[in-house]
Amino acid sequence: MGWEHHFGTVWSGTLGALDAMQYLFDVWNKVAHRLKSAEHVLLFFDFDGTLTPIVDRPESTVLPAETRKLLRTLAKNRHYTVGIVSGRALADLKDKVDVDGIIYAGNHGLEIEGFGSNFLEPVAEEMRPFLQMLGQALSATLRGIKGVFVEDKGLTISVHYRSVDDTEERKVRDAFARVTDPLHVTGRIKVTQGKKVYEIRPPVDWDKGKAVAWLIANCRQARGKGGAVPLYLGDDLTDEDGFKVIEKTGGVSVFVGEGNFPSVARYFLKSPEEVTELLGML
Ligand SMILES: [Mg+2]
Repeated sequence: MGWEHHFGTVWSGTLGALDAMQYLFDVWNKVAHRLKSAEHVLLFFDFDGTLTPIVDRPESTVLPAETRKLLRTLAKNRHYTVGIVSGRALADLKDKVDVDGIIYAGNHGLEIEGFGSNFLEPVAEEMRPFLQMLGQALSATLRGIKGVFVEDKGLTISVHYRSVDDTEERKVRDAFARVTDPLHVTGRIKVTQGKKVYEIRPPVDWDKGKAVAWLIANCRQARGKGGAVPLYLGDDLTDEDGFKVIEKTGGVSVFVGEGNFPSVARYFLKSPEEVTELLGML
């Protein structure tokens, strides 16, 4: 009973709050009116699977030129503040997005750059050497399995298995659990799961939701826009924390994917292509 049990509880919690999501473009007039009449709008996006389609290897992801152009236009518009909140390392995320004048939150918000100042979660920073060793141990343990890829993201570790043969996925899971369970049950690390990826994080009470709440509070204060309306778009389990915060703060939460997925988001769009379309409409 290790991280899988923990993961199971996350799922049932999500399912418990399940309400049918509305297709955003069906109710666009209503939402657009709300955004237009707000004194300011905070646009937060996840990156992989939200702004870009998911690909086999995370390093080959490319942000479509059209999407980048629209993000640049929005970044210059005084009605909006744009932020990208991703599981990627901050430097990697900035490199992939390449848009000036926006907020970047890397490693699920453990490292944030924007408002002319930086945030770095101190416990996570302290654990950097430990995680590096753990990443090396995982690489050694998983070496025999074809297609598995251990990514050292500095403050977190990702184990990608999208390219692993279906019949070998169990092997990845078992080997991963063998290394991480003892550390997980003693509270030395946190383990989460995304789309064909296991993630190891430092044991701090911080996730995309906490990062988004922090960003909303900071934006409202720094820009003197107490009534700013936040939007959050995401496609994966880790984004559910973001949706919950958005729902609590009276914002607009948009799940990217098929609308029958159990998400706490209020609205959905079907694909990153539709997200690009939305950027154009904004
Ligand atoms: Mg994603």
